[in-house]
Amino acid sequence: MAERAPEYGLFIGGKWVSPAGRTRFQTINPATREPVGSFISGTPQDVTAAIDAAQAAFPKWRDTPAPHRGDLLLRVAEILKRRKEELGRIVTREMGKVIAEGRGDVQESIDFVEYMAGEGRRLAGETVPSELRSKFCMTIRQPKGIVACITPWNFPTAIPNWKIAAALISGNAIVFKPASNTAGCAAEVVKAYEEAGLPPGVLNFVTGSGGIVGTALATEPRIRTISFTGGVDAGREVYVKGAQGLKMVHLELGGKNPVILMEDADLRLALDGVLFGAFGTSGQRCTATSRLILHEKIYDEFLGMLLERLKHFSVGNPLDAKIEMGPVASEDQERKILEFIEIGKKEATLRIGGHKLHGGEYDRGFFIEPTIFETAHGTRISKEEIFGPVLSVLRVQDYEEAVRVANDVSYGLSSSIYTRDVNRAFRAMQELEAGITYINAPTIGAEVQLPFGGVKNTGNGGREAGSVAIEEFTELKTVFVDFSSKLQKAQIDIDPSP
Ligand code: NAP
Repeated sequence: MAERAPEYGLFIGGKWVSPAGRTRFQTINPATREPVGSFISGTPQDVTAAIDAAQAAFPKWRDTPAPHRGDLLLRVAEILKRRKEELGRIVTREMGKVIAEGRGDVQESIDFVEYMAGEGRRLAGETVPSELRSKFCMTIRQPKGIVACITPWNFPTAIPNWKIAAALISGNAIVFKPASNTAGCAAEVVKAYEEAGLPPGVLNFVTGSGGIVGTALATEPRIRTISFTGGVDAGREVYVKGAQGLKMVHLELGGKNPVILMEDADLRLALDGVLFGAFGTSGQRCTATSRLILHEKIYDEFLGMLLERLKHFSVGNPLDAKIEMGPVASEDQERKILEFIEIGKKEATLRIGGHKLHGGEYDRGFFIEPTIFETAHGTRISKEEIFGPVLSVLRVQDYEEAVRVANDVSYGLSSSIYTRDVNRAFRAMQELEAGITYINAPTIGAEVQLPFGGVKNTGNGGREAGSVAIEEFTELKTVFVDFSSKLQKAQIDIDPSP
C-alpha cells in the first residue's frame, strides 16, 4: 500500500506554521511518481517573518557557550542515528538514490554533526607576539549573525546538515531554504534539530521556489552570509544579487570530474571505482566521474571490461537492496540528461545505453540507461556538466596529455588517477586542477573531517566540511590588550635591537 504523503508547514520561530493564502507543491518519488510530501510555496513575507524570528533568537544563541551549542549537536546526532533507517528510506523515496546510498546520506549527516559538536570546544583563533612590550595580540571567532543556507537535492540530508551544523556551532541563526524537490528530507532534518531542543528562532525553514524564496534571501539586507550549493547559473545569480548588499556568498557548484587510468593501473580495481564513480547516485553527485581518460595502451581492454560489466548492471526500484542504480531525480533532470544524450549521439560514438528505459516499473518513473560515449576531447558532452549516468571516454597517449585533457574544462571539483607509479601519483596531486584528488580511488567518497570544494567555476574559493567549515560562518576579530599602562605606538616606538 502506498505510504501517505504528509503535509508540512514552514518552521518559523520554533513553530510549524501554514500562513493563510499560500499555494502548495508536492514532491514525488522519482521511481513511481507517487507523492512523498506537500509543502508551502513560501513568499517574501515568509522570508521576512523567518528573518525576524532569527534576529530575535540570535543574541541568546550567540552568547550560549560554544561547548553547550556542541551538546545540542550531539543530541541531534543521536536523533539522526535513531532515525537513520527511516530517514534513509525517505531520501531514497524522494530523491531516488539506492537505499544503501540513502542510508549513506544520513550517515554523512551524523558524522558531520558529531564532528562539528567537537568544534564547540575548539573554535580556535590564534595568539601571536606583539612588536611592543607588555602587549598581547590574538584573534577570536564571532558569528556572522543571520545566515541563509540554500541547498540542492542530490544530498538532501547531508548538505543541509553540513551547512546547518557548521553555522550553529559558530553561533549564527539560520534561514534554510531547501531544494524544492527534496523538501521532505529537509523538513525531517529540521525536525531533528527541533526535537533536540534548539531554541525557537535559531533555525527557520522556508520552502518555495529558488526564484522567490532564494531571491528574497539573496537581497534581504539583514542576511550577511549566504551559503549556496547548486548549479552554476543559480549560483551566479545569488552571487550577483548578494554582491549588491556586500554579502559574503559562499558557492559550491558543479563539476566535470575525470578519472585518469594510466597503462600501469590495476584495471580490476579501477573497474569497480569507475562504475561507482560514474553511475552511483545515477551520476548525480557533484563529484561524479563524468570523464574517463584512458591511456591508449589499456584503452581497448578497459573499455571492453566496462561495457561487459554494464550489460549486467541492474537499474530499478532503489528501495530494492540488489539494485545498483535507481532513477534520476526528477522529470526535469530526465529531460536535461536525454537532451545531452541526443547531443552526444551527434558529436560522439555511443557505445552503450543512450535511452530512457521503458516497460514495467520503468514506465512509472524516470529511468535512464547507464550510457557511455567514446569521444574526442572538446565535445560538449566531454566538457559540460550533464549530472546524470553518462560517461565520456577519452583516449590519450601519455601522462602529460591526460593531465592536459583533465584540466581543460571550466570546472575543478574532484579528480582521480589510477597508477602504480608513485612519482606520477605525486605529480598528479600537484598538477590536476581540482579541489580534490584521489589516488587509486574514484572521484567520489568525501569524508566529513576534510575540506570539500573546488577551483575554477566550481566555486568562489571557500571550502565546506573539515575544521575549515567554520570559516564560512565566523568573522575573525583581532584583539590587542595593552597592559603597559602607557600609550605605545606601533611602527613608531621601535625597541632598540637586542
Ligand atoms: P540548482 O537548480 O542550482 O538549485 C540549488 C538550490 O538553489 C535549490 O534550493 C534551488 O531552489 C535554489 N535556486 C534555484 N534558482 C535560484 C535563484 N535564482 N536564486 C536563489 N536560489 C535559487 O541546483 P540543483 O539542480 O538543485 O543541484 C544540482 C547542481 O548542484 C549541480 O550542478 C551539482 O554539481 C551542484 N552541486 C554541487 C555540490 C558541491 O558541493 N560543489 C554539491 C552538490 C551539488 P529550487 O529547488 O526551488 O529551484
